[in-house]
Amino acid sequence: MSAPSFIDLRSDTVTRPTAAMRRAMAEAEVGDDVLDGDPTTRALEATVAERLGKERALFFPSGSMANQAAIWVHTTPGTELLCDAEAHIYHWEIAAVAALCGVQCRPVRGQGRVFRAEDLRAHIRTPSIHAPEPSLVCLENTHNGAGGAVTSLADMQALQAVAREHHLPVHLDGARLWNAATALQLPLSALASCADSVMVSFSKGLGAPVGACLAGSEAFITKAHRVRKRFGGGMRQSGILTAGAMYALQHQYDRLAEDHASATYLAHVVDGAGGATVVAPDTNIVMIDLPSPKAAQVVARAAALGVRITEWHSSRVRAVTHLDAPAGVVADAAARIRQAFEDVLVA
Ligand SMILES: *Cc1c(COP(=O)(O)O)cnc(C)c1O
Repeated sequence: MSAPSFIDLRSDTVTRPTAAMRRAMAEAEVGDDVLDGDPTTRALEATVAERLGKERALFFPSGSMANQAAIWVHTTPGTELLCDAEAHIYHWEIAAVAALCGVQCRPVRGQGRVFRAEDLRAHIRTPSIHAPEPSLVCLENTHNGAGGAVTSLADMQALQAVAREHHLPVHLDGARLWNAATALQLPLSALASCADSVMVSFSKGLGAPVGACLAGSEAFITKAHRVRKRFGGGMRQSGILTAGAMYALQHQYDRLAEDHASATYLAHVVDGAGGATVVAPDTNIVMIDLPSPKAAQVVARAAALGVRITEWHSSRVRAVTHLDAPAGVVADAAARIRQAFEDVLVA
């Protein structure tokens, strides 16, 4: 394993399994999880269900598949789900909601960074023979597109109350629920209690190579299990993968606050460079807005200076802090990113 010659802040998905994690994976006790269960996978599912305060959890190869299986179970074709206008489910799952579930998205544009209860209420249609029926509310916490934004417990509870008034189930895309719980200093179960089903990902800030879990009631997960099989997500000696996820939960959860502190530091250094404005980060994702559509040039200049970041859109770039970029490395990266902005925008 040779270290890359650049600092990679494109995403928290770039983290690579540590030597200790690889050892845990290599030594995992395994069985056939499609046939009658893999012991390591069962242990992970039980741990996740317990931490989320749900009856049962099920391991999936990806967060996208877990989200879509949840949507498939909660909805029926020809209905619509309500989600944030910048939700992952809406933008980054290649219209699977339509292609796989036969459902349309009704994007909710909130007043703030993420939609709130009053925004949701305003978007639920008056029942009509001519209009699609709502079937599900999808929340995302932390919210990736909004820059790792955290929705507070009170706001989550208010959103759930609106959904209940309308007899709508709630699915929580919690790919980074770990980060939200860390930022709010709350147990995962507090946030998860605001939703009927929850997806959590191991391959983001937690640093495992693969996987996600979907959690919910026993009856819900029994149905989701059938859908996982239909989607081609049955995995046999999956303990090789879930050992990595378990290792991440046990050894790499408590350090997430370091990523948040690094992101805050990076934001502080870069804010104002060449007229750029940083969205103050709640967690580990830093969105930087440019005064002109030169994101591609800034990304290229930063790469030339040895730091990889991403173009979110033509006038916004994203940098994400993670396990493989400790505070000292982020400090070095922050100075180079600032330089990149100045080189492109002040020249
Ligand atoms: C990454 C991500 C997903 C999807 O997870 P994959 O494992 O990449 O399929 C879903 N929602 C959010 C908010 C994410 O950031």
